[in-house]
Order: sequence, then structure tokens, then C-alpha cells
Amino acid sequence: MQVNYFPVFFNLAGQKVLIVGGGEVALRKISMLERTGARLSVVAPQIAPEIMQRAAAGALELAIREFVAEDLDGARLVIVATSREAVNRWIAKLSESRNIPVNVVDDRQASRFIVPAIIDRDPVLVAVATGGASPVLARRLRERLEAFIPRRIGEFAEWLRELRAGTRRQLRDVDERRRFFETLIDGPAARRFIEGDNQGARRIAQRLLATTSTAARAAGEVTLVGAGPGDPELLTLKALRALQDADVILHDRLVPAAVLDLARRDAEQICVGKAAGNVGTTQQEINSLMIEHARQGKRVVRLKGGDPFVFGRGGEELQALAEAKIDFSVVPGITAAAGCAAYAGIPLTHRDHAQSLIFVTGHAQESDKEPDWRALAQTGVTAVFYMGLARLQHIVDKLLEHGAEASRPAGIIAQGTTVDQCVVTATLATLPALAADAKLESPALLIVGKVVELQPTLAWFNVAAGVDLSLTA
Ligand code: SAH
Repeated sequence: MQVNYFPVFFNLAGQKVLIVGGGEVALRKISMLERTGARLSVVAPQIAPEIMQRAAAGALELAIREFVAEDLDGARLVIVATSREAVNRWIAKLSESRNIPVNVVDDRQASRFIVPAIIDRDPVLVAVATGGASPVLARRLRERLEAFIPRRIGEFAEWLRELRAGTRRQLRDVDERRRFFETLIDGPAARRFIEGDNQGARRIAQRLLATTSTAARAAGEVTLVGAGPGDPELLTLKALRALQDADVILHDRLVPAAVLDLARRDAEQICVGKAAGNVGTTQQEINSLMIEHARQGKRVVRLKGGDPFVFGRGGEELQALAEAKIDFSVVPGITAAAGCAAYAGIPLTHRDHAQSLIFVTGHAQESDKEPDWRALAQTGVTAVFYMGLARLQHIVDKLLEHGAEASRPAGIIAQGTTVDQCVVTATLATLPALAADAKLESPALLIVGKVVELQPTLAWFNVAAGVDLSLTA
């Protein structure tokens, strides 16, 4: 197929680039060109103040007058950005006759080359062009790529450059070197580096270097990932990347299908969740599964609802990994309290209503581990109960017994942040009966405190479709 443009990256260091025009458009081009180390020469009878400043700072050479043909002398590239079309075309023609590549801004026909939209992660540079068909499309594509290409890919490329020089002695064989870099770029070292853990990346690269030269298999690792409260769009960019890099995903029942859909297609997905009242996979078994898969060299993602360190046994699982000497990292997630509060319109703290915030489990496993009811019942506290739905009446009784007033606002958010979100707000006295009427289903979060009173005013999500039994006004 024929293409209209041949993409190149042009080294302009020390080269003369002529810019004809002194306005806004010229300034934009100057800003980009400045970084290339080109010698910029600007000609225009009128010059924007910012361009003046740059000239004063010595960043470019300025001629405040009309363009003359001699301006083209010695130029490697010409950019024409005056507001007069006929002038632009005349300068373009002159440039053409001298074989100097020329771009006329917004005039593809008069241009020998076009300037793409770029994603600049120096030294990594991605250029997007639509051959002038649609600058808006090019910009949209650029925005998507911006979000998709890690911020630190440039630093990563520099590190690879360094490694290429450094590994030449240890890995003499070309194939071996290629294998090393493929494994490095696809594996945990790359992810660590891109996420800012330079030391961790170097450590893994060192080990990989040792195993590549002995042709042994590299060890895998486990990433403990928070999947957020339900809405898949609440995943972090890091969580998304981990899911797309995974070989195996061990997930809880709480993780919604919409999140799992974002995983790499051929990743093996294993549900290790426990349904309430059902034994499911034991913690011991989950730990063994993680360790076994990692030892086979796989990239294991341990995916948990919300945040892995909030009532998610993330700590215990990491202890098991540490003991087994498996590498791990953690990607936090939006915990149910933050997600549900936001989507229900209940600020967890408020200068007038709540000065402290307590997250507590409503699921008492052992009676000697009862929470500090007195602290939870205090005024000025927002108490968030995870796993509290089944013991709602008990929780309400305990709070009342420890001094909370019966009129204290309290609410339940079920299936928070999802299309099925259901919010019931009431008072401690009235909530259990209302919750029973609404037939709320798990997962559900209980919030107790004066802030709940704001919910009818601040509700914004699914308001028309949701059940609104607010009686707190
Ligand atoms: N690690 C998780 C919590 C796991 S405990 C986190 O940080 O969110 C499970 C409890 O979390 C549930 O019983 C429920 O109380 C709460 N929860 C999780 N997702 C929820 C959701 N979408 N809506 C309401 N509550 C939720």
C-alpha cells in the first residue's frame, strides 16, 4: 500500500531551523524545537513577547522584519507560520526550489513535511499523524497513548541503554543478550522500574543476569493488587498494568467480573474466594497456590476487592511470601469505605460533624476481640463497619449500650459504586427495620455518624434508579 509520508526522527542538534512568523503558532513550534538543540532563527515584522524573551535569553536569533530569500541560507528545515496564506506559499515555494524541507502550519498542500502529535518521554518518542486528515483524531489518539504509556518509560529506556553497555561482557552471545532483554522488558524488573522502585528493578535484573548466563529459569513474583470496590473504572493504572502482565490471577469472590475482563486474555484465572458460610479455599491453600505458581516463574497477581491491606489479609499473605523468599509488590486499591462514601454522597469526615474516622470489622471471629464500642459510640466519630450487615442489630445494640443516641444518623451502602448500588440512610433506631425491608444484599457497608445526615443532599450517583429511603432530614 502506498503511504503519503515517510516517518523519520530528525537530529537537529546544531542545525539551523528557520521559523517565519512571530505569533502564537510560531511560539508553539519554537517550544518544541528548542529542546532539539537546533539553532533557531525567527523572522517576522511582529514578535510575540514570549519569543522576545527567549531571544533575550539567547535561545534563538531574531530578525524583526519581513522575510527575505537570504533567510533560507544554510537552513536545514523551514517552518512557515505567518497569518498570510499567499506569503506562506511563496516562502514554501522558495524553500522547495532549494530542496529545504518546509512545513507550512495548517497547509498540508504547501508542506513538504508534516509535524506529528507526539508523546514525549525522552528518549522514547511516539509520533501520531493522520496525514492531515483529522488533527482532532490525532490529538485524541495522543491522549489515549499518553495515558497508556508509562510516565517513566523514558528513564526506563535510559536504564536499558546503560544495561546494554554493562551486560556486554557478561553475556557475550547475541541471542543470550536478546533473551535477557526480552525477559527483562516483559517481566517484574521492568514493572518495578516503571513504578519507581529502581533498587528493586536492579536487584531483579542482577539475578536475571546471573540466571540468563547459566540458562536457568528466572523466578516469578507475586503482585498483591487492590481491585477497588466494584466500579472497574476505579482501578488504578498500576492495577490495570499488573492485570495485563499477569500469567495467573488468584482472585477473591468480591472482585467483579468487569475487572477480571480487563486482564490479559490468556492469563489463568483462579477464584479462591470464600462465600459466607462456605469453607472455600483455605488461607493455607491460597498461600501455597501463590508460592507454587511464582516458583514456576510465573507472574502471579493476587487480586483482592478494595484495598489489600484493609480487612483483606494482605499482610498475612505477604508474610507467607516473605518466608518462602518470593518477590512481591503491592498495588493499593480504593477501599470500600472510600468508594462507597464517595458514590453515596457521605463525606467520611467533615469539619462540623466528624473529626475522626474508624474502620472496623463487624465480623467478630472471636468474642474476646470485640471492638472498642465506647470509642465507636463517641460523638464526632464516623464509624465504618466492614462485613457488618449480618450483625447489624448487634452492632446497633452495642453502640446504643455504649452511649450513642438513638437518633444518630446511620446508613448502609450495598453493592457500592456499581450499577446496583443501593443506599439506605436512617438513624440507629430505625435502620435495622428499614434495611430488612430493602432486602439489602452483601457486600454492604455500614456507616454510623453525623456525616450520614448529609447523604440526601450530597447524593449524586444512581439517584433516580436507586432506592432512597432517607428519613433523616
Ligand atoms: N479489602 C476490602 C474489604 C474486604 S472485607 C476493601 O478494602 O474494601 C469485605 C467487606 O467490604 C464487605 O463485607 C463489605 O462490608 C465491604 N465491601 C466491599 N465492597 C463493597 C461494595 N462494593 N459495597 C459495599 N461494601 C463493600
